[in-house]
Amino acid sequence: MQTHYNIAIIGGGILGTSIAYFLSSICSLKVLLIEQEKKVAFHTSSRNTGRVHAPFLYDPVKKKLFAKAASLGYEMWYKYSNNKHLLFKQDGVLEVATDERGIDRLQKYIEWGESNGLKKQIDLKFLKESEIKNFEPSVRCTAALYCSKDASVDYGSLTRSLLQDCKSFGCSILLGYKVRKISRSTNDGTLTIAAVNDREEKRITTEFIVNAAGGNAMDIAHSMHLAKEFTDLHFRGEYWQAPVEYRHLTKLSIYSVPKYPEYPFLDPHWIIRIDGRCEVGPNAVPVFGPYAYDWSKNLRYILPKIFESSKTTGLCKILFDRQFLHLVLDEFKSSLSKTSMINRAREFLPQLKASAFTERGTAGIRSLLLDKDGKFIPDTLIIKQDNSIHILNYNSPGATGALPMAASVVNELFEDGTISFAESKSLWDIRSVAEKMDIKINY
Ligand SMILES: Cc1cc2nc3c(=O)[nH]c(=O)nc-3n(C[C@H](O)[C@H](O)[C@H](O)COP(=O)(O)OP(=O)(O)OC[C@H]3O[C@@H](n4cnc5c(N)ncnc54)[C@H](O)[C@@H]3O)c2cc1C
Repeated sequence: MQTHYNIAIIGGGILGTSIAYFLSSICSLKVLLIEQEKKVAFHTSSRNTGRVHAPFLYDPVKKKLFAKAASLGYEMWYKYSNNKHLLFKQDGVLEVATDERGIDRLQKYIEWGESNGLKKQIDLKFLKESEIKNFEPSVRCTAALYCSKDASVDYGSLTRSLLQDCKSFGCSILLGYKVRKISRSTNDGTLTIAAVNDREEKRITTEFIVNAAGGNAMDIAHSMHLAKEFTDLHFRGEYWQAPVEYRHLTKLSIYSVPKYPEYPFLDPHWIIRIDGRCEVGPNAVPVFGPYAYDWSKNLRYILPKIFESSKTTGLCKILFDRQFLHLVLDEFKSSLSKTSMINRAREFLPQLKASAFTERGTAGIRSLLLDKDGKFIPDTLIIKQDNSIHILNYNSPGATGALPMAASVVNELFEDGTISFAESKSLWDIRSVAEKMDIKINY
């Protein structure tokens, strides 16, 4: 394996692999994708709900990038899946309100959906309580929003397919090596990456680094003396698998309007996965690290997390926020008690019985960025400095938006002269995708 590359991408999740796909599809530069696990999409990119989210959920101002990425992502995954004969099931979603406040929220979603390109009455329909009885007889709610332009996919398979494309475009792949240290030459600014596995350390030099390391992205940015004002909080999203007899309870996946709109990730849904399996989840249990899937792994992260967060004020501030603490207690309860979790879905699907759920699903972890005032950053944050670009706070609908986000990051490298375009081998014109995304980079 050679040791010098023009561009090295850290992180073989759906985002890093999409960036590698676009980069290697348009330029003759030497591109390397580094992933610490032995396969791509090992973490969040496979451990999610598998929805191609419609953009009505995202405020077009506060969550501008997520909103645009979701609106472009739908068509892009549809085209990619068709091209590769991978499953893309346009099965739609029902967003339900269980009280009057929820109905106001549905009206807001219609506004946001229209601003983000969905068509009212065609893609998005408001349903009154009486209409829902015919539409989804098992669902109990006061009103709902039906969105037909929402789909299920298997993001793990999509990422693995992109990896095959990367290889055919000439991208080098290094699996099973963790980036431990990045240093910069004082002579010419070249970056040296120390990547390790159980047996050895590889030293790789590169002119440019793309940090797409998901839950580790902030730590990598910190190690390069960037984004020091931010800290992150990790939340494990747990699922319970529904028994086979519940498979035909609804036609659609059912999402409920968040009780606390500032924490939209807290309310578990009724999910129908692409293979027909149904699940309730995810909740959002605070944990200490990005891979704390169980309690023993969680304990390992305690000291590093305390050390890291002692350097910023954000975590201390949120720990004094009474509403946040109250919500956190509820999430712990839903982690420890199956009944408590299933009861949250029973609010709109009363036929569910906790005793019928016997197996947990696969949990995934969100890593959310906090500013120094202890406030969650609503959108993804892209920082570019010193021959590196960092995609931070890349959360839901991150899998939906991975292709347009990746095309925009690659276009940014073209705009600043880091790369020059040759003929594109991808399915899209990167520049026109980037124009629609219109991302703002923080320098
Ligand atoms: C419970 C849950 C449900 C979700 N549901 C949906 C959904 O339905 N639809 C949707 O669009 N989005 C959803 N999301 C969000 C979506 O899954 C993520 O936004 C997306 O997968 C993030 O992709 P990523 O590539 O940035 O991160 P990851 O998938 O975490 O990839 C980052 C990669 O970097 C690697 N890495 C980290 N550090 C290093 C290092 N030092 N050296 C080498 N490699 C490293 C990791 O091993 C990892 O493979 C959900 C998320 C969660 C947690």
